[in-house]
Amino acid sequence: MRQLLLLIFVFFASQWLFKKLKRAQTAPGAQTGPQGAGATRASRGPAASGSVPQLPDPLVRCAECGVHTPSSEALVAAGHRFCCSDHARRYAGHPTGRDAR
Ligand SMILES: [Zn+2]
Repeated sequence: MRQLLLLIFVFFASQWLFKKLKRAQTAPGAQTGPQGAGATRASRGPAASGSVPQLPDPLVRCAECGVHTPSSEALVAAGHRFCCSDHARRYAGHPTGRDAR
């Protein structure tokens, strides 16, 4: 019985710790009041109040199909960028496509 209580306590403690860590990450300044409601927007980086930080992601062109993909999702293979691993493989499979002739 005591073990169960301990487990519950650990669970709550870890949740509290996680929350605290998350808050520390989102508010590095630590100068925002408890009722600020995002009044100060000095830094428009990942410190936004939203859950998903929207970073400026430059688009890169896929060497195989020409589709523009965010650089964070793009694959880099042999100096070229691709939208997916399938295209990277297909590009490598080409007998040097445009440079052949
Ligand atoms: Zn592609």
